[in-house]
Formats: sequence, C-alpha cells, structure tokens
Amino acid sequence: MTSIMQRAIVVMFIVLSWMSQSAAQQKYDLLLKGGHVIDPKNKINAVRDVAIANGKVAAVAAKIDPAEAFKVVDVSGYYVTPGLVDIHVHVYAGTGEQGSYAGDNSVYPDGFTFRAGVTTVADAGCAGWRNFEDFKQRIIDRSKTRVLAFINIVGNGMRGGKFEQDLADMEAKPTSEMALRHKDLIIGVKTAHYAGPEWTPVERAVEAGTLANIPVMVDFGINHAERPLSELVTRKLRPGDIYTHLYSGLRNEQVESGKVNPALWEGRKRGVIFDVGHGGGSFLWRIAVPAMKEGFVPDSISTDLHIGSMNAGMKDMLNVMDKFLAMGMSVDEVILRSTWNPAREIKREELGHLSPGAVADVAVLRLEKGAFGFVDMHGARLRGTQKLTCELTLREGKVVYDLNGITRPDWDKLPRDYKQTGDTRWDAVTPARPVRNP
Ligand SMILES: [Zn+2]
Repeated sequence: MTSIMQRAIVVMFIVLSWMSQSAAQQKYDLLLKGGHVIDPKNKINAVRDVAIANGKVAAVAAKIDPAEAFKVVDVSGYYVTPGLVDIHVHVYAGTGEQGSYAGDNSVYPDGFTFRAGVTTVADAGCAGWRNFEDFKQRIIDRSKTRVLAFINIVGNGMRGGKFEQDLADMEAKPTSEMALRHKDLIIGVKTAHYAGPEWTPVERAVEAGTLANIPVMVDFGINHAERPLSELVTRKLRPGDIYTHLYSGLRNEQVESGKVNPALWEGRKRGVIFDVGHGGGSFLWRIAVPAMKEGFVPDSISTDLHIGSMNAGMKDMLNVMDKFLAMGMSVDEVILRSTWNPAREIKREELGHLSPGAVADVAVLRLEKGAFGFVDMHGARLRGTQKLTCELTLREGKVVYDLNGITRPDWDKLPRDYKQTGDTRWDAVTPARPVRNP
C-alpha cells in the first residue's frame, strides 16, 4: 500500500469519527438543499432549503447551513412538494375474494404510492361497517403509506353487485358509529355503483356523514332520470361533500351543447367539491378538455387506483397530474390540487403542506420536457410536453423511495468492504438500523 493511500485512509477515518461525534450536536436530521419548493398552503413557490428533525418539518428558508444537518441532499433542479394526497384509491387487498374491491380488485398501497410521491391515500369505500376492522388490521395497520378511508354506506362495502345493490344493508347509524370509533382513520362516507332509481344510498350516506360530521363522496352509479345529477349537486349534497368521477361524462356532466352542465357550476357555488377519480372508466378527453377550457377545473386530483386502472390510461398519481399539465394547468396549481386541497377536503389540515411542525411527508419531483402521450378511458391520446417523475419520497422525515440514489454515496468512494450505508435518522430503506463500527 502506498503512503498516499495510507494517509488518505487515515484522513477518512478522522473525518468519519468527527462526523459521528458532531452528529449529536446537529439539530437537523436531514436537509433538502436547493430545491424549488411548491407549498401552496404557505404560498411558497421558490427555491428554498427544507430542514427536517424528528420526522417533522423543522425549517423552510432561503439558506440553511448544511453544517447544522446530519445528512444533506442536493435537490437542486427538482421540485420539493408536500407528500401527495390521493383521496380516491382501492386498497383492501388480500382477502382472496374474487371480483370484489374488498379483495382482488384492490391493490396493496405501498407498491403504488411512494414511487409516485404519494404519502397519504384515502380508500374510497371498499369496506363498510361490517368489514372495516378487517380492512384496518389487514392493510391500514400494516402499510407504510398513511391509509385513511371513506367508509361505504353499504355495510358489506364493495363486495360486488349482490351487496352493493342491497338497500337494506345501507344503514346510517352503524356506519356513523364505526366512523366515530375510528375517527383517526375514517374521513368520510362513500356511496358508489348504485344501479337503481332510488335516492336511498345518497340520503343514507349524507345521514351517516351528518351523524359523524364527515363529508360524503359520491360515485353516482348508473345514470337515472329519476335521480338527476342536477338534483344531487344542487340539493342532495351538503357543502363539503365530494362528487368524484367529474370528467367521466357518464351522468350528464356535459350537456348537449358541449358545455359543462350548469348544475355543476351551481353545485360549486354551494360548496360541493369536484374530484377527478380517474379510474379505469371515469376520464374522457372529450369531457375534460372542453370543461377545462370553460374553467371548470377539479378541486382535487385523484387516481381511483385499482387493478382495472393501474396499467390503463390512469397509471399513477403523477400521470393523472401530468394530464392537467397537458391541458394547460400550471405546476403549482396541479400541486395545490394534489396536496393541500385534498387534505382540506378530508378535514386533515395537518397534512398537505410543509409548515414547520408538520409531519415531514415530502415528494421530490423532476419535471421532464419531451414528447409524451396521455390516454383516456376509451384509449384516446392527448399529446403533452411535460412529465413529472418522482425522484425521492420521504415519509415522516425518512427516505422511503429514492429512484436514482440521490441520497446515496458512490460505491467506489466507500471502503472496500463497505456495509450498510444509511442511518435511521433519515433512512427507512437501506438499512433501518444505524451503521456500527466494525
Ligand atoms: Zn373508485
């Protein structure tokens, strides 16, 4: 071994031991340096450093001293946003029930969320009061993603037609009681897929929502002249209730002339919320493009993730957000509708922003320019020139996804017999334990 190499090794050990000694004094666990922060709640749209300590946002400022942080990550050239909040997903997987959203039609959340910058999802009614606690122990309690839920007004949840068309199983009282028992998890009531002419599902859902003081999300099922969309959004729903599948075109969202149904404007004026809920069969360019041109933009962008949408036109949260970029919405408006707006809609105002003290759920996104295409539910394409990619996702201040290893050291600069390179102060991927001396 040459003396230069020996000296280099000695210097490296001095630096490493100095780093571990000073670690205790460093007040931040992680510093995201030089990124373009978009935090719509706090009206920040500028280059800012973001410091994190104990799983919370500690500071957001133009310049934070890297010496104050245990781990510094250069995120210049990227957007830094609150962890995305997707309020329409189906994640009650693992029961083995075929053809059911309380089973095979759902997906496990962690494989679809962090890689798209999503840190919070709300399951849209897979479970009702009879099976919510099974859903909780099977999925919610075991996922790294924060999983919240709209409880279905159907006691059995989305187990298929036989259950979802059963008016006798749509009871407001037990639904609201379960919602109140799990206030920390149940953020709304869902009604969906109803094929009959009765208003009962909507009325019972609103009754349960009123008892539990939470919003209702409506998938308006099969269109019926007996219960028109206009009456739903101008009379039946309360301010704060959510109409999802806004651009499906399946229930007169667009009228003959090609204009947005005037009732939607009236509903919006009353405070009814309009959500995307893209899914496998609920988003059409011929509905969305004219509506956007008319100015009927969504309040929240959501995926309606399930097995029928994951590999179709929907793909993931970022792809749905890209569609709004392609229709001319600005990046900060898209981020608003994927963070702070949905957090407010589900009354979780502690989420969806990067205020000091807030949980450090963070997405680091790259905006690519190029030739891209985006597909709707009937397979029609809209071309676009921008695409968001998730580089890094933090959940409670720790790395849970890192596409290109921007938090990681280069292998050839490490000792020859290097072992785990991470630290529990910032890393939840590799490893989940501190580096120890040999
Ligand atoms: Zn859905």
